[in-house]
Amino acid sequence: EGGGNMAASGEGAPEGLCGPERQGAGGLALLGLAPSAPSCPHGPALLFVKTSQGKEEGRRFYACSACRDRKDCNFFQWEDETVSETRLAAREEYNRNHQPPFTHRQNVERYKNFVLLPLSKRRFCQQCQRLLLPAEWEKHSDHQFLCDISTAQLKSPSQLLYPLENKKTNAQYLFAGRSCQFLLDLIIDLGFRRVLSVGTPRLHEMIQSKASQEDFRVRSLLLDIDFRYSQFYTEDEFCHYNMFNHYFFGGEAARETCRKFLYQGSGERVIMVTDPPFGGLVEALASSFKKLMAMWKETEKEGHNLEMPVFWIFPYFFESRILEFFPSFSMMDYQVDYDNHALYKHGKTGRRQSPVRIFTNLTPSMIVLPVEEGYRFCAVCQRYVSSGNQHCEICNSCTSKDGRRWKHCVLCKKCVKPSWFHCNNCNCCALQNHTCEKTDAVCFVCGKAGHKRSTCPSLSHT
Ligand code: SAH
Ligand code: ZN
Ligand code: ZN
Ligand code: ZN
Ligand code: ZN
Repeated sequence: EGGGNMAASGEGAPEGLCGPERQGAGGLALLGLAPSAPSCPHGPALLFVKTSQGKEEGRRFYACSACRDRKDCNFFQWEDETVSETRLAAREEYNRNHQPPFTHRQNVERYKNFVLLPLSKRRFCQQCQRLLLPAEWEKHSDHQFLCDISTAQLKSPSQLLYPLENKKTNAQYLFAGRSCQFLLDLIIDLGFRRVLSVGTPRLHEMIQSKASQEDFRVRSLLLDIDFRYSQFYTEDEFCHYNMFNHYFFGGEAARETCRKFLYQGSGERVIMVTDPPFGGLVEALASSFKKLMAMWKETEKEGHNLEMPVFWIFPYFFESRILEFFPSFSMMDYQVDYDNHALYKHGKTGRRQSPVRIFTNLTPSMIVLPVEEGYRFCAVCQRYVSSGNQHCEICNSCTSKDGRRWKHCVLCKKCVKPSWFHCNNCNCCALQNHTCEKTDAVCFVCGKAGHKRSTCPSLSHT
């Protein structure tokens, strides 16, 4: 099957995979989720088209929604291709065979048996990433395993499982304790009682382990593509879900679990918190989140015009992309830190600036950021801003995006990064040592002209 999953090429944000309105030279555009799309093991495939100079060119094709690396899923089909009965049957068989060895139901049963075991018989196979029952030890005898799995360990699966660091597919970057605690405190202070955790296993786990304590009334439902988590949570606590095509692997029952969770009976307010892989496909994510928001809205009897409250955690350089799809969102200055991200975690000596932010449709003034970490309230902007973010009198706003103090350029009529200077050739501000080149194409990352994503100044911290 030639052609390949080209959506997979490149590190981080896939080059050119940025929607019809913003195509680079020679990229791919996502056309979306077609009603008659064929399926791979990850649910319905997405429709793409190859582009050149901003024009759609050539044949449209379907590729896997979840995996941008064809090593993980090589599903490929031309849109206009006729697929023979034999191949359809083979594909169905393939999709069936590529489902996890145990169902969620079976995993819940296994867990029940596992916790009945004495500590000395509780093993976790590191190779298979699976809790083992004594009868299975034999089969895993030459695998590495952990012994004496405690209740505390079972309550922190994100510590027990290794993070899937495959950049192109899973990119599991776990919140640092401090950021996770901040998020949870914020959620509680805002009065929420339910959290729809979409791709946030560590936040889910923090809520779950507190839920066993007295007078902690917050509940969480985890939606994630990482099926390993089904070993630790019941069907009311975890749904195997693909956030790039809004696909519930558990079918109608899982969808119903989610719908029920979103129903705010007895005034239990719900918020959705999501921290998707950063590799782009913003419109696919936005379309799924809109469906989850619609699901929330359907459960609302009063029919008012509210939106489900959302925290979408994503790098600041995607701001314009997110606002395109969610004009009601704004970006908060809070820098989200990670444990296992070489670039975004704060080191022992002082902290490195993380580019990851919270985007929300809640009123910015309600998002109180920790003063101990230097955030302060700007009375004019009516929101908390980072310590380095100075209010610009000309722009009449706190303009820094990256936490450093920005400066105003009178020629550009806006604030720019401290490291930038106005270039008369380019007629805009840029790094001093940039090469003046006129490109019509705009950068995928920041949406500005004059460079490609590989040389995007907003990525200069890497
Ligand atoms: N910071 C979060 C984890 C974010 S990493 C935390 O600490 O809780 C991104 C998460 O999204 C991972 O849990 C990963 O398994 C999940 N994910 C990746 N691709 C996904 C997809 N297509 N659908 C649903 N979840 C996905
Ligand atoms: Zn797939
Ligand atoms: Zn300014
Ligand atoms: Zn300028
Ligand atoms: Zn220039």
